Amino acid sequence: MSLTPDMPAAVAALDAVEVDYAGRGRALGPFDLSLAPGEIVALVGPSGCGKSTALRLLAGLEEPTRGKVTRTPGRGETSVVFQSPTLAPWLTAEANVALPLELAGMDRAGARRRAREALARVGLGEAVEARPAQLSGGMAMRTSLARALVTAPALLLLDEPFAALDEITRRTLADDLLALWVQIRPAIVFVTHNVEEAVYMATRVVVMSAGPGRGAGETAIEADIPRPSGFRTSAAFREAAETLSHRLAAAMIPAPGATL
Ligand code: ADP
Repeated sequence: MSLTPDMPAAVAALDAVEVDYAGRGRALGPFDLSLAPGEIVALVGPSGCGKSTALRLLAGLEEPTRGKVTRTPGRGETSVVFQSPTLAPWLTAEANVALPLELAGMDRAGARRRAREALARVGLGEAVEARPAQLSGGMAMRTSLARALVTAPALLLLDEPFAALDEITRRTLADDLLALWVQIRPAIVFVTHNVEEAVYMATRVVVMSAGPGRGAGETAIEADIPRPSGFRTSAAFREAAETLSHRLAAAMIPAPGATL
């Protein structure tokens, strides 16, 4: 298929990437992933199959041993969120969220105003003066999301963002993230172990095989965003979760000769 002017270029792409670590052998690949603007991709696969490694390649934090990584976002247009919120403990929520803007050269008053708006969007308008130690796990993750999105990135990468949180908080945050996506429309890639979370949040779920991870199938999730109420109990949701669970179970079987 040739590229035409009305076909948007990929925000980022991994083309037959392989990553070898010294003394360990192949950790990932060959693996392909092309990310369209505004797409929300979930990466699921067995522990150690290279999901975080793939995310680091997409972030430009690491180079592949072989293969090609293409990234179109400019400087400051990629945000990464990790499982632990990595907030600076000595700064208020507002100062934490303002930091990427201040580092990019925005004046302090403007950065602080944008940070307060971003915190209000994640329901933390009353907690701008709180320090990380005063925030619950869910509030700290919300602050992290506000910090990741305050720069309106083209690409948002999340590595098991809600894994440490309880189920109710995870579900609320999934809706919060989708609501933020509606406003900012970044392309998102997130890693999760949770098939239902993948189906709920993603427009496409990519399954990876046991390490070194390769693509082991994908499923498009065709439902409106924000998700309609009752989506979790709909036949379409159950069916997609069931299909993915089977794919994931098959993907757990290691490739012949894989180093575990
Ligand atoms: P996943 O996110 O799917 O659990 P990772 O991408 O974290 O998998 O890791 C893939 C494999 O590469 C694992 O076996 C892991 O131990 C190994 N690995 C990851 N980072 C490094 C590193 N910096 N040095 C050596 N081995 C690594």
